[in-house]
Amino acid sequence: MKILASIAALACASLSVPTAAMAQDAATAAVAPTASDADAFVARAEKDLFDFSVEGGRVAWINATYLTDDTDAIAARYGEIGTEKAVGYALEAAKYQALPGLSYDTKRKLDILRGGIVLPAPTTPGAAAELATISTKLQSSYGKGRGTLRGKEINGSDIEAEMGSNRNPDELREMWVSWHDNVGAPMGPDYARMLEIANKGATELGYADVGAMWRSGYDMPADDFANLTDKLWLEVKPLYDELHTYVRTQLNKKYGDAVQSKTGPIRADLLGNMWAQEWGNIYDIVAPPGAGDIGYDIGALLVTKGYQQTDVADFTASRGKAEKNMVKVGEGFFSSLGFAPLPKTFWDRAQFIKPTDREVVCHASAWDIDNVEDLRIKMCIKVNTDDFVTIHHELGHNYYQRAYNKQPYLYLNGANDGFHEAIGDAIALSITPNYLVQIGLLDPAKVPGADKDNGLLLRQAMDMVAFLPFGLLIGK
Ligand SMILES: [Zn+2]
Repeated sequence: MKILASIAALACASLSVPTAAMAQDAATAAVAPTASDADAFVARAEKDLFDFSVEGGRVAWINATYLTDDTDAIAARYGEIGTEKAVGYALEAAKYQALPGLSYDTKRKLDILRGGIVLPAPTTPGAAAELATISTKLQSSYGKGRGTLRGKEINGSDIEAEMGSNRNPDELREMWVSWHDNVGAPMGPDYARMLEIANKGATELGYADVGAMWRSGYDMPADDFANLTDKLWLEVKPLYDELHTYVRTQLNKKYGDAVQSKTGPIRADLLGNMWAQEWGNIYDIVAPPGAGDIGYDIGALLVTKGYQQTDVADFTASRGKAEKNMVKVGEGFFSSLGFAPLPKTFWDRAQFIKPTDREVVCHASAWDIDNVEDLRIKMCIKVNTDDFVTIHHELGHNYYQRAYNKQPYLYLNGANDGFHEAIGDAIALSITPNYLVQIGLLDPAKVPGADKDNGLLLRQAMDMVAFLPFGLLIGK
């Protein structure tokens, strides 16, 4: 799972419709605000939010890479301030939205201020603080979470890697169940409370709930966006159904009826992924003979080429070297497209591997701390296919962030939330056999011929097509 992290993350435009009452207020008030008042308000908000986002970004970074009760408390405090600022500006923006004569940019920025809060809180005293405390606690407990494997404790990033390669159904079940019992289930009540507060906040801002607020960020009414995603899903569903049926059959052949029945749902822990959201890791199980024999696995190629996963007990100068070199390969991809190299600070400040002396949030994310050039990724990289692809995806966020870094603050974001993710996923599609040859991973003689296209497409579909209903479900 991949996310873009930013404490004051402001998604893009909402097309909220100002009420008639608002328009009337503006027209009849004794000192009616003018379009230039709106310009001044936007400029003030942008300056304040820019400055806060830099400071807040540092706080969030320290918290995510050094989880303690104290950094949680400070992160929650900054989250509270950020939410209060964002809600205050959103409510104020509503006053200007219906004014005649607004410039295009001011109008759009007012929309962003009004609809672009990730988790809004109501103005009730204490609500922003409670929301920030809960969301920080959820992130922190997820980062510190443990499951078990063969009865021994195992952290989240190790489970993630293990589920991709382990083929023992009892052990897979143990990891899946223990993680969900230990980490997922206890988060339930807090998660429900977080949504309750955020929904109230969204209602105060004029949205049906926080989901409608998020869906309003796509330059169309929220309902239209929901209808569009449903329509697109129905177009792909026949392909998904075939993929599901085929994968289920192959899993049944491998594990037998007692583990995976021939009909009904697929046992989620058998799909090679901690969230069952991408299935490519079990390609070896489902690959059809002949056309499915692609002949290589990126993770295995990396190991062959000397990318050795850093041992937890290794504190020599080479600690983390292989993982960092995987990121260098990712940087090389973007350099080959003509982008400037990543700044030196990226290499000094990013988190590439899981530290051994403290808890961190391993979940991959991309950051631009100063909104200019202080780019970073935060990962706990494993030498495997998933993380090789994820590195390209996360760097896609960083290069996109840098590409818009001269924009005013409220435009420092993707065209919409989905677009930011799409950049990285589109880049990841370029991880073709020929690319692997160009970067020296794959022997040119091993490039699969055209007769293996079905296999390559199936491998791709297991990640991309399998993800679609998962993504849609999360979106709903
Ligand atoms: Zn992403």
